[in-house]
Amino acid sequence: MPIAVPKSEKLVDLLSLKGKVVIVTGASGPRGIGTEAARGCAEMGADVAITYSSRAAGGEKNAADLRDSYGVNAKAYKCDVGKFEEVEKLVQDVIRDFGKVDAFIANAGRTADNGVLEASISDWHEVIQTDLNGVYYCAKAVGPHFKERGTGSFVITASMSGHIANYPQEQTSYNTAKAACIHMARSLANEWRDFARVNSISPGYIDTGLSDFVDQKVQDLWLSMIPLGRNGNPKELKGAYVYLCSDASSYMTGADLLIDGGYCAR
Ligand code: NDP
Repeated sequence: MPIAVPKSEKLVDLLSLKGKVVIVTGASGPRGIGTEAARGCAEMGADVAITYSSRAAGGEKNAADLRDSYGVNAKAYKCDVGKFEEVEKLVQDVIRDFGKVDAFIANAGRTADNGVLEASISDWHEVIQTDLNGVYYCAKAVGPHFKERGTGSFVITASMSGHIANYPQEQTSYNTAKAACIHMARSLANEWRDFARVNSISPGYIDTGLSDFVDQKVQDLWLSMIPLGRNGNPKELKGAYVYLCSDASSYMTGADLLIDGGYCAR
């Protein structure tokens, strides 16, 4: 059975996430993309389960902030997405605590500045384990629940680096993982066509702290190549996550939303 047209025709109803439960991995940063995606979902009424890996205090603080600011149910869970048993446990714990999962935002990720010639084999494996295998594990863990319920939205945080190779940074492992994530969304959209939608979001340079270590000259070079003339603020992405989690995007699957200030349009 194809996924049905939503009952309501009102955009305000379609965008609402009231009554829905959303998992967001990697939402422990003070100004991260996952942190803002979770905020957007809570703002639109969803109960939200967020995860952290090393920053427990950050995850707990962000969950408390969502409860206090929006009156929703929000809870932080520890989960290393590179370990399938932890991702499976996360999904089981959230179903136990919240009753169900309507949308899953696979956002956790890490970068590595290592050219192929300098990197060790374990450097490669570490990036692939988090940024690619971790996303696959999330899909594998939540997919059966989506299938059983006949509904679900799976959203992957990919990257502009999955479309173009970052210059002059040497990030072959990261770029490769993110490109694969975009294609994973397309493949899964086909596999899951009867019960869930799958899309990706590809942010450009977003001020989250992830690129703080990058040399100022390189950051200036990037700025000169962004048509909108500045880096993005993570708050400017939350609408896209809400849209993909909501019924407003009911006819969208297998798509990638490039949010890069026009960088790739040059
Ligand atoms: P943040 O540091 O705020 O977010 C990264 C998150 O991923 C943290 O919550 C971190 O948890 C979590 N994480 C890292 N490794 C693991 C792991 N093995 N298991 C579980 N969680 C893990 O940075 P961003 O918001 O910038 O990054 C979020 C996503 O956005 C990443 O996938 C990144 O690749 C992507 N992205 C970022 C861009 C940017 O310019 N900032 C551009 C394009 C894509 P903890 O800190 O608790 O360890």
